[in-house]
Amino acid sequence: MSRDDSQRWKTRYLENLEQQERIERRWKSRLDLLRRGLVRSSLAAEGSDKAVDQCMQELREILRREEMDAGLARLIPRLEQTVLDSERRRQQSIRQTVEALARITQQLLALDMPNDVRTPLKRFARDIEARASQIREMPALLEELSDLQDKALESFSESSATQKPGLLQRILGREQPAAQPTENAPATPPEPIEPAAAPQNAILLDCLPLSAELFQPAEPSAREDVCVLASMPEPPYSSVAPHIEASLLRLLDQMQLPIAQQAQADALRSRIQDSLNWYELVPVLDDLAVLVLSLNDGSQREFEGYLKRLNERLSAFLGSLEEMHQGHADSAAGARNLDEHLREQVSDLQDSVLQATDLEALKLGVEGRLEGLLDTLERFRRERENREQEVAERLQELMARVSSMEEEAREFQASIEDQRVKALTDPLTGLPNRAALDERLELEVERWRRYGGDLLLAVLDVDHFKRINDEFGHLAGDKVLKIIAAELAKRLRRTDFIARYGGEEFVMLLPSTSLENGQQLLEALRNAIADCPFHFRGKPLAITCSAGLAQFAPGDRSETVFERADQALYRAKRSGRNRLETV
Ligand code: GH3
Ligand code: MG
Ligand code: MG
Repeated sequence: MSRDDSQRWKTRYLENLEQQERIERRWKSRLDLLRRGLVRSSLAAEGSDKAVDQCMQELREILRREEMDAGLARLIPRLEQTVLDSERRRQQSIRQTVEALARITQQLLALDMPNDVRTPLKRFARDIEARASQIREMPALLEELSDLQDKALESFSESSATQKPGLLQRILGREQPAAQPTENAPATPPEPIEPAAAPQNAILLDCLPLSAELFQPAEPSAREDVCVLASMPEPPYSSVAPHIEASLLRLLDQMQLPIAQQAQADALRSRIQDSLNWYELVPVLDDLAVLVLSLNDGSQREFEGYLKRLNERLSAFLGSLEEMHQGHADSAAGARNLDEHLREQVSDLQDSVLQATDLEALKLGVEGRLEGLLDTLERFRRERENREQEVAERLQELMARVSSMEEEAREFQASIEDQRVKALTDPLTGLPNRAALDERLELEVERWRRYGGDLLLAVLDVDHFKRINDEFGHLAGDKVLKIIAAELAKRLRRTDFIARYGGEEFVMLLPSTSLENGQQLLEALRNAIADCPFHFRGKPLAITCSAGLAQFAPGDRSETVFERADQALYRAKRSGRNRLETV
């Protein structure tokens, strides 16, 4: 090798050496940059996954060492596996998030809401999957869902709040916060809420991570199982706190506590007035419940006593009411009047019960109205008694008058009957007179015409009666007439009829008697008269009579038959008297 060659090789060696040194410096600089870059990257990546963090920590330590090949060779495969696991968990978390959001949206869509809320909610449901896969979209997605949820729940509360909360609900402060306008809710994220104390309207869902954790999907959390909707359906507690405080204070004020519990109530009042926060609400409610229990114990007996008295008053009222109704049943106007009064009083009673805000007011109201009702009943009872008294007096008077009228009527009737009898009776003999004969004759003729059969008419006249009068006087004549009348009457049948026709003449009606039987009867009468042992001034006196007998024949009138009988009598007189002649 020449000297030139040797020089050339030396130069090339030196040049190569220099180039090698430059390359080494460059590599060293690059390695340094890579180390620094890896350290920064590992720091930046920290916090997404604990296992990855651990690897990054080790990586940084290895990079700080001079000799890192062996360490890196061991770490890199583990790091690769850890990153893959972390990514898998991240994807799973995104899937769960998408499912949870879809479930909330579906639940909201099931509510009753207007179309202007429903339409954007439907659009949101459709886009969830695409948008949720981009982790940076998540805050906007949640914010949008929270907004839609507010609107949906607000419109649902409005449509379902058809009934006003009752008195007890108002007293117990159970006003639904959802009823408060949600626009007042601040835009800041809601305050953390204890799951057990979640508002009644909160929609509880399975497996929905809390909102803060949605931004760290790969972080395994002890609260993964917590089932509370991150975004509240209602305003945060701070906005409803004044209403809750007011309700609690109202409840405390309305409780009439025994003195023993007064201090406890005052302490509780101070706690409520010192701006309650959410966490203090539950213990305050517990203490309040204890006070309500003590209130119950104390007032229970008082209330029972009051109910007992009220019951007695109502029993008295019902008793009087029944009596009143019976008493007024006969008076339509009175019943209507009473009914109107009672309705008015009962209506007032109902009003006072409805308007009563506490037991004392209720007692006063009910007792006042009951007094009114009892007064009304008492007034009506007195009026009824007065009316009854009047009616009874008038009735008594009327009965006395009716009684006297009845007596008068009886007397009058008796008098008429007497007069009638007198009018139809012969005063001397006591036999029916001519007027009575006319009546009876008409009746018998009518009967004969209807039923047929026999009907006889006889006329009997005392012979030479004028002589008796002339010889012994009229009184003796009268006596003879009486004796003859009695003798004739006693020998007739019950169905026969005899009348003194006038003077010393007698007429007989003999129904259902054949002519032959009639003749026998008349003969017997004549003989009986003839056989009467008359004596005047110690001397016997024979008195006889003559008779004419006629039979009713078809077509006869009473006058014609009478005429025939009279003619027969005339014949008997002419034929010597003391005899019977038949037509
Ligand atoms: P004769 O046999 O024809 O019937 O004769 P007589 O006397 O009975 O008939 P006459 O008609 O002539 O007289 C009837 C008398 O009867 C006349 C009258 O004074 C008398 N006489 C009528 N009524 C009464 C009376 O009530 N009492 C008495 N004592 N006499 C009376
Ligand atoms: Mg005569
Ligand atoms: Mg005569």
